[in-house]
Amino acid sequence: MRVYNTLTRQKEEFIPIIPGEVKMYVCGPTVYNFFHIGNGRTFIVFDTIRRYLEYRGYRVRFIQNFTDIDDKMINKANDEGITVKELGDKYIKEYYQDADALRIERATVNPRATEYIEDIIKFVEQLIEAGFAYEVDGDVYYSTKRFDGYGKLVGQNLEDLQTGARISVDERKKDPMDFAVWKAQKPGEPAWDSPWGLGRPGWHIECSCMAKKLLGDTIDIHAGGMDLRFPHHENEIAQSEAVTGKPFANYWLHAAFVNVDNKKMSKSLNNFFTAREILEEYDADAIRFLMLSGHYRIQINFTKELLDSAKSSIERLYNCINNLENLTNEVKKKTIEEDELNYLRSLDKYRDKFIEKMDDDFNTADAISVLFDLTRDINNNVDINSSAELCKKSNELIRELGKSLGILQSQMRKDLESEIQELIEQRQQARKNKDFALADKIRDDLKSRNIILEDTPQGVRWKKID
Ligand code: AMP
Ligand code: ZN
Repeated sequence: MRVYNTLTRQKEEFIPIIPGEVKMYVCGPTVYNFFHIGNGRTFIVFDTIRRYLEYRGYRVRFIQNFTDIDDKMINKANDEGITVKELGDKYIKEYYQDADALRIERATVNPRATEYIEDIIKFVEQLIEAGFAYEVDGDVYYSTKRFDGYGKLVGQNLEDLQTGARISVDERKKDPMDFAVWKAQKPGEPAWDSPWGLGRPGWHIECSCMAKKLLGDTIDIHAGGMDLRFPHHENEIAQSEAVTGKPFANYWLHAAFVNVDNKKMSKSLNNFFTAREILEEYDADAIRFLMLSGHYRIQINFTKELLDSAKSSIERLYNCINNLENLTNEVKKKTIEEDELNYLRSLDKYRDKFIEKMDDDFNTADAISVLFDLTRDINNNVDINSSAELCKKSNELIRELGKSLGILQSQMRKDLESEIQELIEQRQQARKNKDFALADKIRDDLKSRNIILEDTPQGVRWKKID
């Protein structure tokens, strides 16, 4: 398996520290609002990578944090007249609701920054002791000049970074590129007791500390959205490697943005759609399909049209599943025959191809094309004359590959059932209203889908014919 490593700017063979195990840390949301589908892409991408690693037999320890203390949290809590803790509780609950609806698997642990304050304080103390951080009036800054590798993730040295950055001059810092690892309390802010007085942690130190605590000194994969590469991840490296003297993460993976009109979707630009509002109109399959139909390192320019087309694409895949599930119940032959066994074996090439694509830096776009090739083959070769076992086995293969992307797991047969029941009820209502034109239209539409309605003493029944 090869993955693109932001740190080395090339695709590398993926070799985990412990064979068969993957230690993965993904930077999670700041919980002051509903998350938007730009954030959603990052969560879906790394959920898919985790699913795929598991599909390939790895045991994945997957950590995604909640940032539940920072300026945005404090301001929003003040606006709403609630505590920062209450705000965090509220939006963590909302996060799970939307993430579950998007079929994002729960992390092994979702640490909250405020639950690790003691460890963070110890981490800052270690930085000071080792000469990498200094205190000024209750604030503690990281001394970027002290860390030789500063800038290695973005591939620039400190001087270049300094020229490129627009940093406000702060007299108290020794160097403009230094950043806060501990912030002294300002009036009205929540604060914790520390050797430097009341204060709270800086953002970057949270991730360094929680990753170390939950995964150890060196982790396999550290991931997040592209915007986190600098300064967030660069600073995490500087902090962690200063304390442990070991590489912090072996592979750095970054997901490209979701844009709107070629600008990054973000809360501050107010050009966002929350996952919650999109989920009112589209289901997880359509949304995940959209996010995975491009490679994760390529930006998506979001439009509703794109989502509509994702929806119809995923429906084409479901048609095959649906058909196979109906066939499984309707075909006469039960057990698989010799020529069918050969056919079934021939489908293995699609699994091989799918794995080949995904093994190449998680190329979900090409992997999805393989899914279409597979369903096309099945549509052409499995029919009412096939055995139930062949129908079932080919369906299982589609579901198996879909599962590693978190798509194609819905119970379509049930959905078809409820859709038809709904249409039958609409037709009954139309008859009651003496709207026979509508009643006939519903019957004819169903007939064109090979579904026949029969009036029986027990009510209306339906059956599928071929
Ligand atoms: P935040 O809640 O802003 O800290 O972001 C949570 C995660 O979403 C981080 O990994 C960000 O990099 C990522 N993210 C934020 N905006 C976008 C976007 N427009 N497209 C893709 N990922 C994003
Ligand atoms: Zn982080």
